Amino acid sequence: MNAEQESTPILYETPEAGIARIVLNRPKTANAQDTALLYALNDAFDRAAHDEDIRVIILAANGKHFSSGHDLSERNSYRNMHDHETVGAICGFTCEGAEAQMSREEEIYLGFSERWRNIPKPTIAAVQGKCIAGGLMLAWPCDLIIATDDASFTDPTVSFGVGGVEYFAHLWEVGARKAKEMLFTSDALSAEDALRLGMVNKIVPRDELESATLEMARKIAAKSRFALKLTKKAINAGQDAQGRELAMQNAFHLHQLAHTHWLKLYDMLMDPTGLPEATQRAMGFDPEARK
Ligand code: ZN
Repeated sequence: MNAEQESTPILYETPEAGIARIVLNRPKTANAQDTALLYALNDAFDRAAHDEDIRVIILAANGKHFSSGHDLSERNSYRNMHDHETVGAICGFTCEGAEAQMSREEEIYLGFSERWRNIPKPTIAAVQGKCIAGGLMLAWPCDLIIATDDASFTDPTVSFGVGGVEYFAHLWEVGARKAKEMLFTSDALSAEDALRLGMVNKIVPRDELESATLEMARKIAAKSRFALKLTKKAINAGQDAQGRELAMQNAFHLHQLAHTHWLKLYDMLMDPTGLPEATQRAMGFDPEARK
């Protein structure tokens, strides 16, 4: 990898005819998602969606872990940031109170994940290592997930006072009982658990992840593009007929209530006392002050 590629948060590759591979490329941060990465990822999905020669899209990640979630170093950015051109029909990015944060999350979290879920082409996530919180919001919108045997899936947001990530698909991914367990306990789902629950399609050893994903993509790319599009629409619409979209909107607004609650109490988006002390300090919160 040359220096330019190393500093690019998202790589776009075409490993074979008809197949695009989008790669998360912040391995030093376990692919923590900052705003730049998410916009670059959205651009890459758009590029693959608009390119008529691309029939299947793979989402992969460089490094040991798929994604450690949202980059908390941007924790206060809800106040002053939005220097990207907005993708969704959303306003209020610079407004007072809870509105700026809500707008930001409608755009780059729920909005982007929902948008990627509805790309009219098959998508496959290739997941290795840890997939934490915001990491789920990249893997879950994909149609298929291939995981390594050491992969794990965690939404620990209840531990810091928020009731689940912004793309609240837990119910549809693992069922109500397991969704409650994973959220209430913050425990990780192993790759085996995820396979048994139907959350992932296949488990492979780490050194076979790339080839197994390409093999699946190749098989799908050989099918009728139009039939694939119709099938995807039919299944996604079925989930939406079950109330998925509305339930997720409701969860999103409860999530905003949690952020507002902690903003009122600590001027922070989450309960800092639920985080490791080192993380609290990195966020500018003195854990001693609470003791
Ligand atoms: Zn949030």
